[in-house]
Amino acid sequence: MDSNKYLPEAVSTLIEELNKLPTIGRKSAQRLAFYLLRQSPNDLDQLAGSVLGIKDNVKFCSRCFNLTSAQSDENDLCKICNSQARNQNSICVVEEVLDLIALENTMEVSGVYHVLHGALSPLDGVGPSNLKLAELFNRVKEGADSIDEIILATSTNSEGEATALYIYENLKNSGVKISRIASGLPIGGDLDYADEGTLRRALKGRVGF
Ligand SMILES: [Zn+2]
Repeated sequence: MDSNKYLPEAVSTLIEELNKLPTIGRKSAQRLAFYLLRQSPNDLDQLAGSVLGIKDNVKFCSRCFNLTSAQSDENDLCKICNSQARNQNSICVVEEVLDLIALENTMEVSGVYHVLHGALSPLDGVGPSNLKLAELFNRVKEGADSIDEIILATSTNSEGEATALYIYENLKNSGVKISRIASGLPIGGDLDYADEGTLRRALKGRVGF
């Protein structure tokens, strides 16, 4: 990075590391680095500690693959899977944890989730085995008698549509009702960028696959 060559190595290395983060371009990385330089050692310790602890303190729910705290729960399940107040027979399938959070904010999902951790994208080398699809199919198979509905809330871009179709093809003979959120969501859109009102409408207007 040429424009960083007049900077001490510690600063230029920090800029390079920040530059690797999604949506952080070179200019933003420089601004963030100089912002951090002005912070107190205490604040920096807190930031560094939370970055270092993220792998030790967080794990995935063994049922739905949502994030959960590594310490707090006894049975490897997240708060939603553990909740008696949620309808455990309705499973809303999303690509990412951020999509789950966006849907939770609408307060329209009374059931539970399944986080795939991505969408099918053959061009990027993402096939079915790279996602939590087998886990979803097992979950439906094991709970087939009690599961009422699968809501496919993957994005409306081509990867999200391909993923929804793949799931439908695999589950259409399971006897479980399958629906797809659609109406109101911008075509080609990422779920977590949609506003709450749009997401709420999309969930309410879900249609049978
Ligand atoms: Zn869970």
